Amino acid sequence: LIDVRDVTKSFATDGGEKTVLSGVSLSIRQGEIVALLGRSGSGKSTLLRCIAGLIAPTSGSVSFKGDVLNGANPGTALVFQSFALLPWLTVLENVELGLEAKGVRAEVRRERALRAIDQIGLDGFESAYPKELSGGMRQRVGFARALVVEPDVLLMDEPFSALDVLTSENLRGELVRMWGDGTLPTRTALIVTHNIEEAIQLADRVVVLDSNPGRIKAELAVGLPQPRDRRSPEFEALVD
Ligand code: ATP
Ligand code: MG
Repeated sequence: LIDVRDVTKSFATDGGEKTVLSGVSLSIRQGEIVALLGRSGSGKSTLLRCIAGLIAPTSGSVSFKGDVLNGANPGTALVFQSFALLPWLTVLENVELGLEAKGVRAEVRRERALRAIDQIGLDGFESAYPKELSGGMRQRVGFARALVVEPDVLLMDEPFSALDVLTSENLRGELVRMWGDGTLPTRTALIVTHNIEEAIQLADRVVVLDSNPGRIKAELAVGLPQPRDRRSPEFEALVD
């Protein structure tokens, strides 16, 4: 569905050219959840932005359904670490915004937004403002806003790292359950994280990005969530 081919990305900085990604290739197949794991500064967010089409690679290409991107990727929706909700809009209005951007008619917007809000466990909070919500609930709004457009691929940049441990666990557990039973419209995703547990819990495949300059150093099939003691020493060594 998504094909990243030999992508290099450099930024001009005060100290000269800085290469952040160096020859990264990665595919996301339909129905697959891929975790992108790497240390801070390894280029995870940069790669995610290239896939979303928000920035262009310096060289190499990103394709969606076989077409090389030239601008925003029409098949993706984003979930951000910092939620990125508009504080002056209600939950319902924030979620509808996702549909507005896609040009969905006003009559249809409300209905679809209400369904997404209900699905993600925010029923009854439609007219609340973000500041009235806990972090976990704000991120639920973030998920609803992305899922409401039924994107082909959900792109998530450290969606749980601003949440406390329990809230994060709850939300992740619910997502795993909903992905498992097919409740959510989209089950093709890239999740950026530096949390190994999270990667193993959520993803079918884990891709490890190494820094300086960013390149993929390992790819591992994870499959179903595994108990801790069944993780191989090879995996532990790779992500260390
Ligand atoms: P984190 O885990 O901290 O979010 P990351 O893996 O997402 O890190 P990136 O945000 O992709 O890393 O950044 C990788 C490197 O690229 C960093 O050193 C960052 O300073 C640099 N960088 C990112 N965007 C730009 C930009 N627009 N201009 C210059 N440098 C940038
Ligand atoms: Mg980042």
